[in-house]
Amino acid sequence: MLKVQLIAHTPEPEKVVAAAAKLCYSGASLDDLMAGLTPESSRRFVRMLADLGHESPTEHASFTFAIEGVSRSLLAQITRHRIASFSVQSQRYVRLEDFDYVTPPALEGRPDLEEGYRQAMEEEAAHYKKLADLLKEGHARRLMEEGLEEKEAHKKAEKMAIEDARFVLPNACETKMMVTMNARSLNNFFRLRCCRRAQWEIRALAEEMLRLVYPVAPALFEKAGPGCVAGPCPEGKMCCGETEAVRARYKALKGEEDQ
Ligand SMILES: Cc1cc2nc3c(=O)[nH]c(=O)nc-3n(C[C@H](O)[C@H](O)[C@H](O)COP(=O)(O)OP(=O)(O)OC[C@H]3O[C@@H](n4cnc5c(N)ncnc54)[C@H](O)[C@@H]3O)c2cc1C
Repeated sequence: MLKVQLIAHTPEPEKVVAAAAKLCYSGASLDDLMAGLTPESSRRFVRMLADLGHESPTEHASFTFAIEGVSRSLLAQITRHRIASFSVQSQRYVRLEDFDYVTPPALEGRPDLEEGYRQAMEEEAAHYKKLADLLKEGHARRLMEEGLEEKEAHKKAEKMAIEDARFVLPNACETKMMVTMNARSLNNFFRLRCCRRAQWEIRALAEEMLRLVYPVAPALFEKAGPGCVAGPCPEGKMCCGETEAVRARYKALKGEEDQ
């Protein structure tokens, strides 16, 4: 099951961004940058930057998430976001026998499909285990013949074996990761991945991440969400046709009004 935690962020993120704005637009000395910045004045600076379309100062505030219960399919999507840092559980070092896997919601309530899916996952796990065991056996034998001591040979053989056995693991296989993004990149991520055009899994993750960062820095994420939250739907003929419902959903998520 999807689990997301905001494990760290720049302390006083809006104040830091406001200080960057102050540096750009006033004659404030370094000693004065943080002085006199209250939460209210910081928010005014952040909103001023948003109105000007001056986004780079928001790069000074970073947010780090721990994420688990997501698929390798999601991993392929989220790592396309280049302005971010990732640490991902390794399939080269961690043996994934009896791996956990993500089931698409479309299968729920469809016992015929659910059963086939479960069987496919079990078969993948069995193939993985068999491959890993056979490969390990072969590698260990060869390494010992080459003169490596038994314990060391088995340790090395295990890593070599799971490195290749993982090729049979499915996209559904669960993974965990740590992700750090700055506020500018996060806003871009939310714009693309909260949109109904994004796949359900990464959309659910993006929404959860927004739910976590919004209370920490409401002005920085005031317009966060799919493109239609901040203006007209940018998707043209791909528009979902439910713009008002989507806007209401994100207002509710930010506690602005009931859905
Ligand atoms: C609905 C949807 C469908 C998608 N379908 C596909 C698909 O079919 N195939 C596919 O390959 N991908 C697909 N993607 C992924 C998409 O193309 C992007 O790779 C991904 O969303 C990351 O977005 P980004 O480049 O804005 O983010 P980041 O990589 O974080 O970049 C942030 C911003 O920095 C700037 N930037 C970063 N790198 C460069 C650069 N090298 N040159 C110039 N500017 C740069 C851009 O302004 C960019 O928007 C899809 C995404 C979505 C949301």
